[in-house]
Amino acid sequence: PPYKGATLRIRDVSKAFGGNQALKDVSLEALPGTVTALIGPNGSGKTTLLNMVCGFYRTDSGEITLDGAPLHGLTSDGVARAGVARTFQTPNIPAGVTVLEAVASGRYTGHRTSVLAAVLRTPRFRRVRHEDLREAERMLALVGLDHLRDTEAVSLPLGMRRLLEVARALIDAPGVLLLDEAASGLDEHEVERLASLIRQIRDAGGTVVLVEHNFRLVLALADDIAVLAHGQLITTGPPEAIERDPRVLSEYLGV
Ligand code: ADP
Repeated sequence: PPYKGATLRIRDVSKAFGGNQALKDVSLEALPGTVTALIGPNGSGKTTLLNMVCGFYRTDSGEITLDGAPLHGLTSDGVARAGVARTFQTPNIPAGVTVLEAVASGRYTGHRTSVLAAVLRTPRFRRVRHEDLREAERMLALVGLDHLRDTEAVSLPLGMRRLLEVARALIDAPGVLLLDEAASGLDEHEVERLASLIRQIRDAGGTVVLVEHNFRLVLALADDIAVLAHGQLITTGPPEAIERDPRVLSEYLGV
């Protein structure tokens, strides 16, 4: 398997934007061989937490570690090199790049898809291209897109672009895979395909963290669910407990 999971620990993390306390004392642990889902209403702090893990924002206080090594304080490149890969809600791949190139470039862009076009033109990318392209082929086979390797990436329908994003994220065999709303906009069939891919990664020992709106998918897929509301973790637990938790039903589902 291409995947060896690491333990992600978030301890007492807080973050304010001006006077707006976006996160307050959030603690969370994601273990190898598990899928952890982060859910909560809009504005509850999910994206902020992902962004802090990825080094886009600095924590005001608290710690984030990967197998015990601190991630907080690293740049987003540093976090990517340390073994955290993520997908983005809106895959951002420039025109003229093939599916295979897009996946291969995952090695060099880390969390910054905006630099992808530039990276593809660098001598460094051209030099090591062969090996990268072979690895990218393997990743494409894993997500079931190998037959589309020479297609222009931007021309793929959304569902396939999201699978491509997962392949890109996996190319460096990350310790943790963070998926940001990976299922949004997908049809039922595509969601099922994504779910089976995530299960495969989990079963190979990967550590997967999902930020996901699709509650049914979360219940079907997650081993652990963490529920954020107003920047605070209101509960964590297995799907069976979360789906019956009255606080979750009122905060998250508004019933
Ligand atoms: P979610 O992802 O759960 O919808 P967010 O993490 O996007 O929630 O937002 C949590 C809170 O933090 C919101 O009140 C939002 O307005 C605020 N926030 C997020 N990012 C920023 C930012 N870059 N600058 C200012 N406020 C922000």
